Amino acid sequence: MSGAPDWTVVRGDFPLLTRTVHGKPLVYLDSANTGQKPECVIASVDDFFRRYNANVSRAVHTLGSEATEAYEAARGKLARFLNVRDDELVLCSGTTFAINLVAYSWALPRLQPGDVILLTRMEHHANIVPWQLIAQRTGAVIRVADLLPDGSLDLDALFAAMTLEVKLLGVTHVSNVLGTINPVATICREARKRGIITVVDGSQAVPHMAVDIPAIGCDFYALTGHKMCGPTGTGVLWAKREHLEAMPPFLGGGEMIKEVRFDGTVFNDPPHRFEAGTPNIAGHIGLGAAVDYLSDLGMDNIAAREAELLAHATEAMSQIDGLRIIGTAPDKAAVISFLVEGAHAHDLATLLDLEGVAVRSGHHCAHPLMQFFGVPATCRASFAFYNTHDEVEAFAAALVKVRRLLA
Ligand code: PLP
Repeated sequence: MSGAPDWTVVRGDFPLLTRTVHGKPLVYLDSANTGQKPECVIASVDDFFRRYNANVSRAVHTLGSEATEAYEAARGKLARFLNVRDDELVLCSGTTFAINLVAYSWALPRLQPGDVILLTRMEHHANIVPWQLIAQRTGAVIRVADLLPDGSLDLDALFAAMTLEVKLLGVTHVSNVLGTINPVATICREARKRGIITVVDGSQAVPHMAVDIPAIGCDFYALTGHKMCGPTGTGVLWAKREHLEAMPPFLGGGEMIKEVRFDGTVFNDPPHRFEAGTPNIAGHIGLGAAVDYLSDLGMDNIAAREAELLAHATEAMSQIDGLRIIGTAPDKAAVISFLVEGAHAHDLATLLDLEGVAVRSGHHCAHPLMQFFGVPATCRASFAFYNTHDEVEAFAAALVKVRRLLA
C-alpha cells in the first residue's frame, strides 16, 4: 500500500475490539504486552486446522506437503519482512526462547572466566536472566550500561563500557517500559569495531517500524510474533549464517537431525538444527499472515499513525495534575509509563479497567529499570495503529475520573 490506509476501516479488521468490558466499550492499551489479531490472522489459523492440519517435514502425503509448504512460506515472508535470508531465520516460540538459544548455543561454549557480558539497564528480564545463568556457568561477569534521566541510553557511558573484556552486548531495540528507541545501528557499529558480538531484542520494535536487520548490523536479532498481530508462541531468531553454522544444537530430538545412530548423530543444517520437535505450525502460518497484513498497511504508515497517537496521548496526559510520565526520550515508540501521585499502579489499573480501559501495571519484567527510577511499579499505556484518537480521549477522561476517586 502506498498512501496511508483508512484507519477506521483498519480498526474494523480486529473483531475483539468491538467488545465491552464492565459495560463500557473496550479501550485496549496493552499492545506492548500482546497485540490484538486481525481477522486474516485468525482465519489463516482456522483454515490450517480445518483444511490441512498435518505435521511438517515428515509426511509425504498431500496434507503434510501443504502444511510444510505453508510453514516454510511463513519463514520466507518473515525473511523478506526483515530483509534477510530464509536460511538465517530460526522459527521458535518467541524472544525468550531466541535469546536462550543464543545464550546456550553461542555463548556457553565460548565465554571464559573474566569475560564481560554488557547489558543495558532497560533490558527486559528475557535479555538479562539468560545471561546471568550463562555467567554463573562460565565465570563471565555482567556489566550494566546506565541511562540518562529521560530514559535514553547514556551512549558515552555505553561506548566507554565496551572494553577489551566485553565479548557480547545485549541491547533492546525499543524499551517495553519507556518506549525509548535505541540507535541500535550506531551501537552495533561501535561494538563491531571492538569485536563485540551483538544481540538485539527486537520484540518491541518490529510491531511498530520497518526493521532492516542488515542495516542494523547486529549478529543476532530476536523477536516475538504475538506483539506483531501474530499468534502467541511464535517468534524468530535471526543470526548471521556463520554463527548458525558454528553453533551446536540447543535442544535435541526430531527434525533437527540428518541421521541418528547410537554411536553418533549427524545434526541437520541450520536453521532446522535449532527447531527440534513439532513446531507451532498453525502459529507460524498465522504469523506469516500477520506479516502480509502489516506489509500491506505499510510499516512507515503504522509508525506515522502511532506517532500521532503518542503525541495526542502525551499531550492529554500532561494536562492531568499529579500524573508523572516515566520515560521522555526524544525518540519514542507509542508506549507511556506513568504514575499518579498517591496511587498504587495496580489500583490505578484496576479502576481504569472498570472504565473499560486495559493498561498494564507492575514491573513489566524490568526490575532493574524500576530500581533506576526508584519505583516498585508503573502503569503502562501502549498503543497500536488500531487505536483511535477517540480512545485517547476516553483514556484521558477515565484517568481524570480515577484520579478524583483516588484523591
Ligand atoms: N523483550 C521485550 C522487550 C519484551 O517486551 C518482551 C515481552 O514482553 C520479551 C522480550 C519477551 O517476549 P516473549 O515473552 O514473547 O518471549
